[in-house]
Amino acid sequence: MIETSFKAKHGQGRNCVITRRACFSSSHRYWLPEFSEDDNFARFGACALAPGHGHNYELIVSMAGELDTAGMVLNLSDVKRFIRDEITDQLDFRFLNDVWPEFDLTNPKGCLPTTEALVRVIWTRLRPHLPITALRLYEHPRLWADYLGNAMDAYLTIRTHFAAAHRLAQEDLSQEENEKIYGKCARPNGHGHNYLVDVTVRGSIDERSGMVCDLAALQCLINDLVIEPFDHTHLNKDIKHFKDCVPTAENIALHIVDLLSKPIQAIGVNLHKIRLQESPNNAAEVYAEIPQINAMPALLNSMATNEA
Ligand SMILES: [Zn+2]
Ligand SMILES: [Zn+2]
Repeated sequence: MIETSFKAKHGQGRNCVITRRACFSSSHRYWLPEFSEDDNFARFGACALAPGHGHNYELIVSMAGELDTAGMVLNLSDVKRFIRDEITDQLDFRFLNDVWPEFDLTNPKGCLPTTEALVRVIWTRLRPHLPITALRLYEHPRLWADYLGNAMDAYLTIRTHFAAAHRLAQEDLSQEENEKIYGKCARPNGHGHNYLVDVTVRGSIDERSGMVCDLAALQCLINDLVIEPFDHTHLNKDIKHFKDCVPTAENIALHIVDLLSKPIQAIGVNLHKIRLQESPNNAAEVYAEIPQINAMPALLNSMATNEA
């Protein structure tokens, strides 16, 4: 029951989470002075090219607290000012390797300004001013990092896609029975989707490379084990697993978890979650790490870009 005294004061004392989005454009270069030129290019590919390259970053700041007498967790003009003064004014149109001492690679404690390292440093700089509970930083609509304030632990998500056909039907049921369960999705010749796949891994940010894992190796695994075999197929007919397992969005997401969990562990991170979006109207999410289901605040997702 809500106490009447709270009602009278614009929700004062009740808890709420608010989010604020901020954008900046910055450049960076992946280059470690202790490595030879060949080693830098072998590790970082085109990201090692001088003088660097840039991204239009998008930062989502999630904050929690009790409502004040004005009905707000925080005054939004204070939120905007802190984000601007502490973060965006300092980073916008700058070269990240030079801008903050955390990324000074001549210092042995400096690390590369990767998305996951940057979102963690942003946390340490914003936390004294704002009651942040989660941060998300998009380097690109298809690559982002989440940080929840847990030491060096960060989440990295890659969004990719494949196109495939499927039919939802169980072989031992009649067409009529299948249509009763699966509706139009049971029509005999199938239909198709452009599936979006978000692969989220969790790992510890390396103190020097700033990375939770080798991004190119992760992209290769996703491509070799999921995208390449699934793309432009009829899932029921071409993918062995779906010969006797109905390829619903849920089952496809579960199968991707089973395909990726072990290989991802072998590159030094944990598969955290697979989100499979079948259409703008439906998606399935499977958490590969059971106790972590509440770790990703849903509010961050509410502001996520849906761009393919
Ligand atoms: Zn980059
Ligand atoms: Zn379908």
